[in-house]
Amino acid sequence: MGEKIIPLADHRYAASIPRIPERLAAPTGRVLDRLGRPLRDLRISVTDRCNFRCSYCMPKEVFDKQYAFLPHASLLSFEEITRVARLFAAHGVHKLRLTGGEPLLRKDLERLVAMLAALRGTDGMPLDLTLTTNGSLLARKARMLKEAGLQRVTVSLDALDDAIFRRMNDVDFPVADVLEGIAEAQRVGLGPIKVNMVVKRGSNDHEIVPMARFFRENFGGAVVLRFIEYMDVGATNGWRMDEVLPSAEVVQRIAAVFPLEAAEASAPGETAQRWRYRDGGGEIGVISSVTQAFCHDCNRARLSTEGKLFMCLFASHGHDLRALLRGGHDDAQIGAAVAALWAGRDDRYSELRGAMQADSGSGERRVEMHYIGG
Ligand code: SAM
Ligand code: SF4
Ligand code: SF4
Repeated sequence: MGEKIIPLADHRYAASIPRIPERLAAPTGRVLDRLGRPLRDLRISVTDRCNFRCSYCMPKEVFDKQYAFLPHASLLSFEEITRVARLFAAHGVHKLRLTGGEPLLRKDLERLVAMLAALRGTDGMPLDLTLTTNGSLLARKARMLKEAGLQRVTVSLDALDDAIFRRMNDVDFPVADVLEGIAEAQRVGLGPIKVNMVVKRGSNDHEIVPMARFFRENFGGAVVLRFIEYMDVGATNGWRMDEVLPSAEVVQRIAAVFPLEAAEASAPGETAQRWRYRDGGGEIGVISSVTQAFCHDCNRARLSTEGKLFMCLFASHGHDLRALLRGGHDDAQIGAAVAALWAGRDDRYSELRGAMQADSGSGERRVEMHYIGG
């Protein structure tokens, strides 16, 4: 309310204003994309800023003091985010994930959490409401977030060894503080907690087994550790295939020390393949975005901090929902536009990766991870 309208071209990623269908045939109701995939999951980036400079996401050389982050007025307000989330819920979204940048840097985030926690899905039930964080502020904020209605957290943690962790986050942040955040999240009931480790061969791959051991021994089944293949998102991280450690190798390395057996997927569209420790010590997951693409059941849409809707993590083009939100359109119109966008979706970048170039081929810049949220 009362917010300044920023011109469309205020940021570096291309966007177009979604077309509002002339006949509002589908203002609500489940919708399938062109490959038959339902819309189930909305990831909401609440800030493009971060207090870490992980080399695979926001390399220091690019994201320096001169880097132009989004001005405050161009961010979606909590009311706007909630309105979008409500319209997505009416089209079958059951899961909301807050992300960023570092979401816990957004002021008063617990107010947004409370607003989103009040939404209902098409089945009349509350939505699954989670958040992905680097954990640096979690020890301080976990209780407040839980009380506001957050259900679970995913914490990113790339090493246990303090020196390696400090190098990975590249701002000299100590690992002990993130571990304290994870412990506090568990104490206040934000579980089961997922811990995500991006594995970069030659940087932190020797931390795989120590991480598995630590979470087995200290948290048992209460924490699910997941190993993510280093992805070629954006255009700034200098991604190279030889730095990707295939998930199959992660599983082999852990199983050599702690025998594993495959477990069934917990939900359709689940990105992680699950593996259980044979001795009952919990489970791990591997997310093989590079070596075993899972586009065939990708049910996620992504809303950027400034209200652009992206249909794929590797898209270079978003759809400017903020222009609709601030342009006086009603819920039925925006809902129908969202449904039409999803119905036209045919993205499957990871399946086509081999055939595509690092650039989108259109000359447009591919969206960065800190901007869209992973
Ligand atoms: N700052 C929060 C965090 O780190 O959890 C949320 C945003 S971060 C962009 C979301 C997730 O994306 C993190 O788990 C991070 O490790 C992952 N990520 C970022 N860049 C990546 C890359 N190039 N390949 C794989 N995962 C990546
Ligand atoms: Fe920040 Fe998360 Fe990106 Fe690391 S992965 S730089 S913590 S946004
Ligand atoms: Fe989904 Fe795009 Fe990732 Fe495929 S590449 S799983 S379509 S986000």
